[in-house]
Amino acid sequence: MKPARPACRTPARKGAAEPFFPARPSRADTFTESVIREMTRLALQHNAINLAQGFPDFPCPAELKAAACNAVNEDYNQYAITWGAKDLRDALAKRVKHYNGMDYNPETEITVTCGSTEAMMASLLATTRPGDEVIVPEPFYENYGPDTVISGAVPRYVQLEDDFSLDEEAWKSAFTKKSRAIILNTPNNPTGKVFSNQELSFIADLCIDYNMVAITDEIYEHILYDGKKHISIGALSGMRDRTITIGSFSKTYSVTGWRVGYALAGREITSRLRKIHDFLTVGAPAPLQHACVAALQLPESYYRGLASDYDRKRKILYNGLVNAGFSCQLPGGAYYIFTDIAEFGMRDTDFARHLVETAGVAAVPGSSFYHDGGETKLRFTFSKKDETLVEACRRLELAGTR
Ligand code: PLP
Repeated sequence: MKPARPACRTPARKGAAEPFFPARPSRADTFTESVIREMTRLALQHNAINLAQGFPDFPCPAELKAAACNAVNEDYNQYAITWGAKDLRDALAKRVKHYNGMDYNPETEITVTCGSTEAMMASLLATTRPGDEVIVPEPFYENYGPDTVISGAVPRYVQLEDDFSLDEEAWKSAFTKKSRAIILNTPNNPTGKVFSNQELSFIADLCIDYNMVAITDEIYEHILYDGKKHISIGALSGMRDRTITIGSFSKTYSVTGWRVGYALAGREITSRLRKIHDFLTVGAPAPLQHACVAALQLPESYYRGLASDYDRKRKILYNGLVNAGFSCQLPGGAYYIFTDIAEFGMRDTDFARHLVETAGVAAVPGSSFYHDGGETKLRFTFSKKDETLVEACRRLELAGTR
């Protein structure tokens, strides 16, 4: 008879008593999931009209659809050059010169990214080191907080005033020796503020004084109202080589699902940004990059039509919100209305849930645009068909929110 085998025991390992890996703290524990995307899931669950997430429920221009189909049929189906298809970078260089008044070399200074979302992350990773401070004007598009934390930098929030103007003294005191970058967003989400030349010049001077980089998200650059003009801080004197200008096809051409954006920056910053971009994503979707060239060939009338369509939608939603009892202002740009809900006597998160469940309309709780505060605010988007907005307004009024 064979001798019984000794029980096979794994020797006790160093660290075995520590919590299992998923329970260990990580960077991801320092921020929450996106509330905007969560509201979309809640809207789907309750069959509510989604005025939470800023994407159109109407089609993109037919020229773009045809160009995307052609690109796939013509076999642009493999990786594009890491920093972007050459025809797209060339077309972007022309467009940016014409619209933003900035000259960037498509070979060394333009990087095509997976939406402006990736461009922002890559910009922060390329320009900051752990512990550096990044100035974030508040309220802010909710990605900027987590983006800063993921990059290892420390967000330093500076408040916009109630009328969204800048308190220059408060801004000056937020800038320190540790400040490395500022994140700007004009036209602004969620406030609709369009930064003026004077405000941008003030910020540019601070960036120069503190030797900082301006990372500017200009994704709504074509969505402007009441004769407002878009100004790129990168076009101001002394700012070209200390600015990363981020743009995207998502909003201007109603293709948020295509995930094509770009970053413009001087050669030195671009070479760092491209390394980060390469290892993060390898590249943006190749056939859609080719289709985006067709977007940049649309006539000027396209941009006028876009702004006037959104102007009409802005007024439909604004009137509906006022009739339903919300306090709000007409935005100067972008496609959101940031309302005050103090009078309803409910916290933003409770009120947002209440609206989805009882009125069938989803909005975003204001606190997701603040590191601290915002509980008396709610953001609605008007990037929807007129009939969607009319129905949403009808529901809000019916729900007796007044
Ligand atoms: N930046 C701002 C200010 C936004 O509002 C959004 C989307 O709502 C994004 C970036 C995301 O852009 P993209 O689709 O290009 O990643």
